[in-house]
Amino acid sequence: MFFCPFPGCGRVFSTLWGLKQHFRREHRPWLWRRCPVCGQRKRLTVPRRPFRYGSVIKHIVFREDSAHQAVAYLILRSDGVSNRSLYRSRRDLARRMFSRPRQFAFDPFDGGDV
Ligand SMILES: [Zn+2]
Ligand SMILES: [Zn+2]
Repeated sequence: MFFCPFPGCGRVFSTLWGLKQHFRREHRPWLWRRCPVCGQRKRLTVPRRPFRYGSVIKHIVFREDSAHQAVAYLILRSDGVSNRSLYRSRRDLARRMFSRPRQFAFDPFDGGDV
């Protein structure tokens, strides 16, 4: 069983793939305003411009600790994966991480004072 880590969600899936599909569809990581793992907020690039697209996703993907990499598995599209071994190692981390009920420490839609 795999448990959705999104705050307040609590849905359970029989496969990791099912969780991933649910996660991208329901929790729309491209709209996140902060990292759910460490609380890092999106930064403004240019004053009064909208937040830069995908910067939270980029932050998560480039952090190398297992908590961020497990989330990277959930939020990245799986088509066009160029690095198979990286994909597999993220998937293994995610399998371990989400087979127990746990919730993110931060609500990614809570932008705080930004
Ligand atoms: Zn969920
Ligand atoms: Zn983070």
